[in-house]
Amino acid sequence: MGFFYRHNIHPYTECLKRQHTLQAYADQIGLKVIIQEGYDLEGFIQNVVHRESDRCRHCYHDRLRTTALLAKRGKFDYFTSTLLYSRFQKHDLIRSVGESVGKSVGVPFYYQDFREGWKVGVDASKTLGMYRQPYCGCIYSEKERFFRSDEGTTG
Ligand code: SF4
Repeated sequence: MGFFYRHNIHPYTECLKRQHTLQAYADQIGLKVIIQEGYDLEGFIQNVVHRESDRCRHCYHDRLRTTALLAKRGKFDYFTSTLLYSRFQKHDLIRSVGESVGKSVGVPFYYQDFREGWKVGVDASKTLGMYRQPYCGCIYSEKERFFRSDEGTTG
């Protein structure tokens, strides 16, 4: 069972691109996916403002806790995260947040270093012609990816 969390993916049009990519692939392979309701961009920003440099900790916590609560409600044996697949994420932090959230919610966090499959996944996504995200998700990560301080402001 898959779960797509939306609040940290900005702007909304980017969130929809990723969601539609997942939904199309899930349909192809027969995977059931729960799409998070709503789009609380405002709540996400309010939770990380003034601690932007540590925002990923909050982000991981909220995403993993939301997933764990769903897993608990659905009586699943474990929950985990595609975050563990990324070479760009703070892998050890994800593991420690996942394990702590799992203990507090009462569903074990399944840990595996999915980065081993990174290249295979990238190649498969290109072969399938999937949309590939150009930055992590939040508006801060979009700035980190694209902003160059030497760019002018006139034009
Ligand atoms: S960079 Fe990625 S993990 Fe970090 S806060 Fe933004 S969306 Fe979340």
